[in-house]
Amino acid sequence: MEKDVHDKDIHFDSKCIHGGQEQCAVTGAVMPAIYTSSTYGQESPGVHRGFEYSRSHNLTRYSFERALASLEGTGLDESVDASHGGFAFGSGLAAIGTALELLDRDGLLIAGDDLYGGTNRLFSQVRERTQGLRVRYVDTTNPENVAEALAEKGDSSAMVWIETPTNPTLKVTDIAAVAAVAHDHGAMVAVDNTFATPALQRPLEHGADIVMHSITKYLGGHSDVVGGALIAKDPALVERIRFLQNSVGSILGPFDAYLGLRGVKTLAIRMQRHCESAMKITTWLESHPRVQRVVYPGHPSHPQYEVASRQMRFDGRPAGGGMITMYLEGGLEESRRMLENVSMFTLAESLGGVESLIEHPAIMTHASVPVEQRRLLGISDGLVRLSVGIEHPDDLIADLERGLDAI
Ligand code: PLP
Repeated sequence: MEKDVHDKDIHFDSKCIHGGQEQCAVTGAVMPAIYTSSTYGQESPGVHRGFEYSRSHNLTRYSFERALASLEGTGLDESVDASHGGFAFGSGLAAIGTALELLDRDGLLIAGDDLYGGTNRLFSQVRERTQGLRVRYVDTTNPENVAEALAEKGDSSAMVWIETPTNPTLKVTDIAAVAAVAHDHGAMVAVDNTFATPALQRPLEHGADIVMHSITKYLGGHSDVVGGALIAKDPALVERIRFLQNSVGSILGPFDAYLGLRGVKTLAIRMQRHCESAMKITTWLESHPRVQRVVYPGHPSHPQYEVASRQMRFDGRPAGGGMITMYLEGGLEESRRMLENVSMFTLAESLGGVESLIEHPAIMTHASVPVEQRRLLGISDGLVRLSVGIEHPDDLIADLERGLDAI
């Protein structure tokens, strides 16, 4: 490898393209080859070039993992870990499942009360039910709730799991404040950074121990890959996650790692557009008579705007991301009519792609969250979630207007 770009000296936009990347020493190729080989030849038993088997070692995956580590700012290099502290998995949930293996058998998990439905299902219906993990859901927007829940930790290992902004009600948690409380109690802090992406928010800089991503969303960015990631910077934690990635085995394959790497090249420029358009759409929705309430972390009307504008920033300015949640006037029938009458917004699960998506969390992404919990969180029949893509914002507004007119 010939070229080593020193991440620390470059801007985030440049890191998206060069962070952790090197040209191929043989050809000068600017993108890595997709190494499909599942195994590697050895000269003598145990004598090899650092590559034994592709679950453990894969150069395409390493390239993507190093890009992720650079974007989240681990500050690590080869001397600590070949992937610089970034680890890629077959899905976001595979990454979360592996992170839970950091806890001991009697571990305590303090989780935000508003999480992606599949994360909630993994915690409650799999790990809590089958493996005895103690899971306590609290509103992490108030760090005192976290401190209270950690009182039952005792000598066991504990992790605080934050999603910020949350899916789908877009609550924002102060990562630094929760990290301080968690560390006081000897607990780790993991942040699902899927909605904000490192373009807007870098949890390790705010004191988190682990960052998690669903690559499927903004990092992939084109709705053509399913993947997940964990990123850490403490060398002992990095070592443990590498061990778990290999031992549990839910790795990202080389083709998908390539797509993920291609996706992050344009992350900064995409996020800039997502943020600008979402802000414009929020402002338009706020004055629409069929819309009861709009929630957007980049707008001063957001309940945690002060925290959001400190923690989520692009180019030195507050930036709310590409997700908007709105509460329509009426119930299920009204929501259905709206959702059936948009056309540029595709009615679909997922988010974070270049194309705009719209969905109904109570029936779609959050159907697996118990009804009572949904009610408490306000995931009502009138709640509609938008993932604002990078089409022209005026076309998106015209499309939403058609949908709202049909109510
Ligand atoms: N975290 C968040 C915030 C999500 O929105 C999702 C999926 O929608 C996940 C985690 C799970 O990721 P995946 O679908 O890649 O398993």
